[in-house]
Amino acid sequence: MMRRLFSQLFLGIVFLSSPLFAQQKFFEKVNKELDQLKLKAMDAYLPTASEIDNFWKAVATPAQLKFLKTSNRAFRDLASHPSYTWKKNVPQQGNLLWIYGIKQEKIPHFSFRGGKETKTYRDKTTQVRILVRQENDGWKILKWETSCSFCNGKGVCKECGGTGMTKPKKCWSCQGTGKRKRYTKAGVQEVKCFVCKGTGKTKPYKCWSCQKTKGKCSMCKGKGWKNILNKFEEVYSTIPSVSSKNYFDLSTPKNAAQTILAIESQVKKRTVEKIGEFFKAVQAFAQKYFAQELIDSCKEKGKNRPFRLPGSSKDAKIKDVQKQGNRAIVLVEEYASVGGKTRSYTQAYFFLYTDGKWKWDNSGYLCWSCKGKGVCRYCHGKGKNCWSCKKNPGKCSTCQGTGFRMKRK
Ligand SMILES: [Zn+2]
Ligand SMILES: [Zn+2]
Ligand SMILES: [Zn+2]
Ligand SMILES: [Zn+2]
Ligand SMILES: [Zn+2]
Repeated sequence: MMRRLFSQLFLGIVFLSSPLFAQQKFFEKVNKELDQLKLKAMDAYLPTASEIDNFWKAVATPAQLKFLKTSNRAFRDLASHPSYTWKKNVPQQGNLLWIYGIKQEKIPHFSFRGGKETKTYRDKTTQVRILVRQENDGWKILKWETSCSFCNGKGVCKECGGTGMTKPKKCWSCQGTGKRKRYTKAGVQEVKCFVCKGTGKTKPYKCWSCQKTKGKCSMCKGKGWKNILNKFEEVYSTIPSVSSKNYFDLSTPKNAAQTILAIESQVKKRTVEKIGEFFKAVQAFAQKYFAQELIDSCKEKGKNRPFRLPGSSKDAKIKDVQKQGNRAIVLVEEYASVGGKTRSYTQAYFFLYTDGKWKWDNSGYLCWSCKGKGVCRYCHGKGKNCWSCKKNPGKCSTCQGTGFRMKRK
């Protein structure tokens, strides 16, 4: 008897918890896999320590190599170690189901103080909901949303609390007292504050944030939720191919600069390859979990979305070589696309002659103040009685006469 009751109770628990367990598992699984993809994206866009070694070891001085490694954000552990808790299901018409849950993260934050970097964590909680449809081979995702970070999922304008008007603030003129002192020949008189007309408060004005949405959160239009699936469109766009050069010669500063430009083209090619691998991984993820109509719409939108490569496709040009003893500066005209337009700028590469080779030691930009001349632009180098170049008479006070702003201090 006891035994039967026990087994019934046990069966009852299994029967109850089993479907819940499946939803918890699905919620955790898809979210964890999505996080893995995010780490893969970071890896695609940022070179790793070993890659920097592979590419730059033979051409850079030890100090420059160390700088390249430490200045790269890839070496910071940016993982937020999220955990997921499934909360509830809300069935919808047509075999659809909203799965609600919570994502909890510790967001790393880096700060520099006294030349030392410290890492602290900030707790972040995000509501997540996924719209799924039961199909033969499991649940397929149709929508994926997170709570709006702007309004914390409330849908109400954060600036005005939904009233459309800002809250009246303490009057700046009378400090909220509504009264001002007036000094006259007869003595000090107390009068009504002319700014707030004696109310002590400033007039409320129309909220700038929700002018269009009328009290609703301007980011999510009052829905409280934000669709995150639009990021999947990009992975169906076409990545242009990148050519790279093979060139290695450190016998002259000019050749060494050519070598650096060739390696930069190889780094770019490697980045593009890694982005391609990342896109394929995201596509495989979508194939596994997305409903077909969602994949189709991502593909359609991705096709019309040009993929922008980091940097510019225009080749850099060597403009000038200045040599002095065991040091040399090579000025290179480089290009960057800013908002779809190609702009040129001059980058300077600094070389040090060591062990029979011209090694890359630093890089920098022309000083904006003296345009690279190093001469004080107020006294044109005279230096006498000049307010600007007291410290270094005649020299540009922005760059102290070097003509450059160095990347490595
Ligand atoms: Zn919002
Ligand atoms: Zn507002
Ligand atoms: Zn006042
Ligand atoms: Zn300068
Ligand atoms: Zn001067």
